[in-house]
Amino acid sequence: MAVFNHPAYDEHEQVVFCRDEASGLKAIIAVHNTRLGAAFGGCRMWNYASDDEALTDVLRLARGMTYKNALAGLAMGGGKAVIIADPTQVADRAALFRAFGRFVNQLGGSYYSAEDVGTSPADLKIASETTPFVAGLEGKSGDPSPFTALGTYLGIKAAVKHKLGRDSLKGLKIAVQGIGHVGYHLCRHLYADGAELVISDIHPQALAQVAKEFNAITVAPQEIYSQDVDVFAPCALGATLNDTTLPLLQASIIAGCANNQLAEPRHGEQLQQLGILYAPDYVINAGGIINVSFEAAYDVNKATAKVEQIYQTLMTIFREAEAQNRPTAEIADEMARKIINAQ
Ligand code: NAD
Repeated sequence: MAVFNHPAYDEHEQVVFCRDEASGLKAIIAVHNTRLGAAFGGCRMWNYASDDEALTDVLRLARGMTYKNALAGLAMGGGKAVIIADPTQVADRAALFRAFGRFVNQLGGSYYSAEDVGTSPADLKIASETTPFVAGLEGKSGDPSPFTALGTYLGIKAAVKHKLGRDSLKGLKIAVQGIGHVGYHLCRHLYADGAELVISDIHPQALAQVAKEFNAITVAPQEIYSQDVDVFAPCALGATLNDTTLPLLQASIIAGCANNQLAEPRHGEQLQQLGILYAPDYVINAGGIINVSFEAAYDVNKATAKVEQIYQTLMTIFREAEAQNRPTAEIADEMARKIINAQ
């Protein structure tokens, strides 16, 4: 499998393929850039259709972490890990995460792992038996998801302020795709602010429960894009803004926590041409990693205050994009690169 000429390869410093036969672990760890500090990024477990799909995902996610950490003002580089497995079908989860921890340990602290889609703080606690290079553990900074949700909520407010000139979400219709760890807490904030929610998930039972709690309308996964709403919040997986979905969108704002929402950079350009304001994913979803960055001497108030800065960072990006008549994603990338290259 080609790496250096892979379309998603972007000068990643290290790409490590990990195999442990005893536990069945098959994983890839990508360290994108450590100029600002050790690489931080979660570990995703997903039933990838092919090894190449997993490689594409980890390369893109790791790069996104470099940019995310830079724009959030953290002294951290970017990396990511993916475990190739169906999270619901793992025979011995403890053995798998001990093995994963051993591989993280071999990197000697150039990469710190944490939870992501398909993994939990409990899994990383097991990994911590074989490596100290894990973050976001219970009893330390804890589950990052509520902080990611807070940042995403504030990012939606920034987008609403910029695009619609409104300070409150009262009466606004917001579609949330995916009501998992982050999506659930996001719905809680949005509902408390008076938004009317339309939600979808591939797990109907969880969906029904969340709908009841927040008086939300539920729709089938493929129907979420075409809802007549003000804001579309992608909070499931990546690449959901693509050639198929863009023509369906009714919302004038896209702002959600999912990583890598744009299938390709040109979709960011198309959103701009359509007059849809896009909150760059790695800026709006930085709340969790910001919270993790405080882990060494954890202080929830300091962490929360820094998460709240996401509102202003997005405002700066929105204004700059408008002034230059360019896509918001391009402006964010440019700002992040400036910070990284200044080191
Ligand atoms: P999660 O696995 O808890 O939630 C994802 C949810 O999306 C699940 O409920 C899943 O059933 C649902 N889903 C999957 N495919 C779907 C589809 N086609 N339509 C509707 N729903 C679908 O994950 P999470 O931790 O909530 O993360 C969500 C997204 O946010 C991911 O892209 C993740 O990388 C990103 N993110 C998470 C954090 C964090 O702190 N957890 C931080 C930054 C970014």
